[in-house]
Amino acid sequence: METLRTLPGDDVRQILWRYADRFDLQMAVQSARSIARSVVARLVADGVRNTHEWTERKAELLKAFDESGLTSIYMDPAQGGFIEGPKNLALALVAMELAWVDGGAATSALASCLGLAPIHEKGTDEQRAHYLPLCTPPQPGEDRVCRRAAFALTEPLPYVGVDTGILGGKMRVQSWDDGAEPLLKVEKRGRFITNMDFADIVTAAVESDDPRIKGSCMIILEKDDPGTFDRGAPTLKMVHQLSSTRDPVMSLTVPASRIIGGYDVVDGVIVPRFSHGEIIASVFHRTRIPVGLMTSAKLLSAIEPIIRYHRQRFRGGSVGEPGSRRHELGLQMNEDALQRLVDVWATGEAGCSLGLAAARLADRFDPIEREKDRQFAAQGIKGRKQLAALKDSQERALEYVRLKYAPAGQADPARLAELEADTLAQFVYMDALAGVLNPATKLWNTGVGATMMREAVSLVGGYGITEDCPGFLCHKWMDAQLEATYEGPEAVQRRHLTLTMTNPVFLELVRQWSAELRRSQAGGAAALAGALDLWLWTLDFLQNGADRDGKKLYHGKRQGVTFPLADALGWLLAARSLMQDVAVLAAEAPASPVLAEAAPGLTAFYADMACVQAARAAGEAARVCAELVYGYGCGQAQDGPGGPCIVFTGSEEFARLRQGVDQGLHGTRLAKDRAAEALTAVMIPEALDYPL
Ligand SMILES: Cc1cc2nc3c(=O)[nH]c(=O)nc-3n(C[C@H](O)[C@H](O)[C@H](O)COP(=O)(O)OP(=O)(O)OC[C@H]3O[C@@H](n4cnc5c(N)ncnc54)[C@H](O)[C@@H]3O)c2cc1C
Repeated sequence: METLRTLPGDDVRQILWRYADRFDLQMAVQSARSIARSVVARLVADGVRNTHEWTERKAELLKAFDESGLTSIYMDPAQGGFIEGPKNLALALVAMELAWVDGGAATSALASCLGLAPIHEKGTDEQRAHYLPLCTPPQPGEDRVCRRAAFALTEPLPYVGVDTGILGGKMRVQSWDDGAEPLLKVEKRGRFITNMDFADIVTAAVESDDPRIKGSCMIILEKDDPGTFDRGAPTLKMVHQLSSTRDPVMSLTVPASRIIGGYDVVDGVIVPRFSHGEIIASVFHRTRIPVGLMTSAKLLSAIEPIIRYHRQRFRGGSVGEPGSRRHELGLQMNEDALQRLVDVWATGEAGCSLGLAAARLADRFDPIEREKDRQFAAQGIKGRKQLAALKDSQERALEYVRLKYAPAGQADPARLAELEADTLAQFVYMDALAGVLNPATKLWNTGVGATMMREAVSLVGGYGITEDCPGFLCHKWMDAQLEATYEGPEAVQRRHLTLTMTNPVFLELVRQWSAELRRSQAGGAAALAGALDLWLWTLDFLQNGADRDGKKLYHGKRQGVTFPLADALGWLLAARSLMQDVAVLAAEAPASPVLAEAAPGLTAFYADMACVQAARAAGEAARVCAELVYGYGCGQAQDGPGGPCIVFTGSEEFARLRQGVDQGLHGTRLAKDRAAEALTAVMIPEALDYPL
């Protein structure tokens, strides 16, 4: 039977991740890859990660980013960039390429964008026009240096971490002359601030410590502002050492015009237009996607070195002459080594599918969000009236979702087009979807990814935990934990999901996805559809049920109930995303001149991997749902065959749905066997294309 011939290259990835028609993105990927596999890999191989300090060698990274165009990737062409339009997918792909070799280098590339993101998302036109071009490398003939930015939210313990509710950073009015711009005194101590060794500009979260200023804001600080700009001590990190992290202390005087998004003066009080919480929500919503993808890229990067290690394990010894099975296959003679590698690979693919779906959605969402803001501003709709207008659009968003997923030929195309052109309906639909996909990417990709990276390390035996392990797997395992921590650790993503996953538009999407999967012939689709139904049933049960003490089950304070349900959803979303991408590959690979001949084996292999992932995801979700439903289910004590037991009334429907999941697993282990077998035949290059 035709099987996978070579490891998937760019032709496959461009179809799977939908950028085959984006030459600008292909160029960005190539630029990032060339740096990752030369400058970055050399730094790691030379042990440059073994220091906490930012060194000249580490600074080579910044030069490489400047020269290759990566520094200006965040900017529009008018500001010195080269990608037109939204750049979420571009940033995600670049982060993945760099993280394929080293996560700290990827963070270094993204950190200046994070520092500028508050200005990019919520800054005034003047702030954007001034700061974004400053942070691009000078063009020939320009006499200036490239400025770099840092983002300062986190403060030393016991102040703000990821919980943005409590801020230690303060601002006061220092002077306010009649008719002049007020001057503010800003005090901010940072903890774990990336880029702090060389940042010229810091966007800092602060709150008012003065009756003449209202609430909180983010504010732009510059290193030459009057006062103290102390970069602070370096963080003694055990991970991501190729990015700079310090604990700065800043006490600076700045004009009020540095308040991001501007301010109004109301009754003699400075009122920032955006609170720090609003700005941070808008920034993190997008920047968390590349962070999640960095971990998934690590898993994919592990496949080639592990296969090479397994095949070569016994070569050169006295047993296993060339041509023998032991010589050719080495550890690949063992089913377990193969099947565990399939799990690592499928997890990486599923994470990429989920995260890149989120990134593509973010690119489509950006102009819709701006158009929504424009329409509201033009109509003078503000505050609660905006919420009411969006609530009115919910019915149309629900109708859009039903039409979008209607079986072929059953939707009215004219109505569908009408709803596609309806900004508010589209906003409500995309907001509901992004509100779930973005935190799920950060939660599932990094959390499950970190655990799976451990599996990858274990597959290389003792070599796996040495510094000379091919592919730097041990570093990547440790780095994955930081990716799970920063920009909001797991608990924060779960809290976010607890709120967004109950959105009626999202729940309608889940129902439609389940119906779509049931119509599909794909292996594992029935299990996944069953698990989505089971998840919906469980959510409904928990939202409407109480425990034996009569206390509400689905409640913000009951993280023991809500958080596992969020975890279960992450598994399901990732598996469904992979299945979607594989369907696109199956449709498009045969038409690709490069892939046509290999298409049958390639698509069969990917279908098997999607099936493996669907089975695992359905199993994980079903386990979580069963624990919650039976674990909290109210019941009556009865005499059972083995003595008294609790019989949970109302469980028949749950049991029926759960049985559907189990029956949907039909044939999924055979798919795993086939995928594992394919790993014994796939061709890999002679050597890794970066130093060891
Ligand atoms: C190398 C590095 C670089 C960083 N770069 C930056 C930067 O550039 N700018 C910046 O501002 N910050 C930065 N950070 C900070 C980072 O965002 C935070 O460390 C991270 O968000 C976690 O916050 P924390 O350390 O306060 O953990 P904590 O909030 O103390 O979390 C500890 C544990 O408690 C859990 N937890 C927290 N809150 C809750 C809750 N409400 N309910 C249940 N469980 C909860 C968490 O999930 C976690 O498991 C960086 C951190 C590191 C390590």
